[in-house]
Amino acid sequence: MPDTDLQTRLSKMRSYFSSGAARSPEWRRAQLSALAGMGQRYEAEIFEALRQDFGKPAFEAFATETSFVTHGAKHALKHLRRWMRPRRVAADLANLPARARVVPEPLGLALIIAPWNYPYQLALAPLVGALAAGNCAVIKPSELAPATSALLARIVPECLDANAVQVIEGAVDTSKALLEEPFDHIFFTGSTKVGSAVMQAAGKHLTPVTLELGGKSPVILRKSADLDVAARRIAWGKCLNAGQTCIAPDYILAEQGVAEPFIQAFESQLRRFYGTDPQQSPDYPRIINTHHFDRLVRLLQDGNIRVGGLHDRDNRYIAPTVIYQPALDTALMRDEIFGPILPVFEVEDLDTAIAFINARPKPLALYLFSTDSADEKKLVAETSSGSLVVNDVLMQTTPPDLPFGGVGASGMGAYHGRASFDTFSHLKPVLRKYNRGEPPLRYAPYTAGKFRWLRRFL
Ligand code: NAD
Repeated sequence: MPDTDLQTRLSKMRSYFSSGAARSPEWRRAQLSALAGMGQRYEAEIFEALRQDFGKPAFEAFATETSFVTHGAKHALKHLRRWMRPRRVAADLANLPARARVVPEPLGLALIIAPWNYPYQLALAPLVGALAAGNCAVIKPSELAPATSALLARIVPECLDANAVQVIEGAVDTSKALLEEPFDHIFFTGSTKVGSAVMQAAGKHLTPVTLELGGKSPVILRKSADLDVAARRIAWGKCLNAGQTCIAPDYILAEQGVAEPFIQAFESQLRRFYGTDPQQSPDYPRIINTHHFDRLVRLLQDGNIRVGGLHDRDNRYIAPTVIYQPALDTALMRDEIFGPILPVFEVEDLDTAIAFINARPKPLALYLFSTDSADEKKLVAETSSGSLVVNDVLMQTTPPDLPFGGVGASGMGAYHGRASFDTFSHLKPVLRKYNRGEPPLRYAPYTAGKFRWLRRFL
């Protein structure tokens, strides 16, 4: 699309926002209800698109894509009135008599740029916050999940107010053209490298950004952990979406003596999930495209394969794989894996594991398996990560009001539940003064007596 077309389209959306239509609680409710209903209304087509894009099983499509958005929209509907309410703040002595409050107001026109790995959820979950907060939004889905992208472009305007929400399909050029335009907020989910380019482009218009990025999310496995539970949950988190999850456990730091039994327990969990040949299981997804398949196969050469290792380019299958103690200067340990390959290291103790993590960029998620509550306290105090989960993986995404986001290289800002509403709002401070009852203290002439009072109060 030539830029002038894009500019005309965006300018119509801005005018629509300026008309105030999207501000009303009724409009927000209608949009959120329609968004909640969309996943049910088009369920079969959404599941089919996700199957075409990367063999996502219907179970995972429901659990991690459609129901996620539906629940998010229903949660927003339930709490919208409270979220929209002005938040009272105590006025200080210098201002009395006065009333201070924070009033959430919509930002305007938002741009949501989505990745391919949860192409339905990650395009629409941010939209829940944008709509709840009374904004208009452009969604740019990922070109690497083309079936889901095309479906979104068809069903979003069928379900939602097309004056306020538009899907603009395209690849990097489209994304770059959009980033040339002024928006009131940019919500980007994707890689750290592209996140940095997005932030640079946003700087030109001083557009605020939320960056939901990636990176390596480590797991610390302590001697005190229940190994069966740990192996089951880690195997699930590593194989869901074939490991193509931003918060998938990236590698394991197992305390001395724990690595071997963990690898055995992990392998036996894989057999329980997928039988002896995961390629035959309808529950195990494929890699999104041959570019990523080839990248992952190259990573398999970076170490000593202890479990799995098989792959089949024709149907982009990579078996769940464990690699024991790969060298730290390999791509496997430098870059986010984003696939079903799990490096396992043995480390001396918790302090060594913490030092290892703190010597690297701040992770999006940090996982600890331990039954000792002192370990949790130590990690809270001595590490920094987007989120910290004890005795599970990935489940920090489901409590509706637990904010989700990164820190440092894994991102900035957060969303889900009320955090989404706040992300897409300007929290405007409003101070209301009254004309009577004011002591003349602050005005000249500054007498010695006034100064004495001032010292007492401030
Ligand atoms: P990506 O950064 O390559 O692409 C994301 C989006 O940006 C796509 O829509 C793409 O078209 C667009 N894009 C790509 N290059 C661009 C450029 N130079 N300028 C402007 N836009 C550009 O990411 P991906 O491969 O789609 O997704 C995988 C990455 O996303 C992983 O790093 C993963 O960890 C991360 N991720 C993070 C979260 C989170 O919530 N933090 C969730 C899912 C994925």
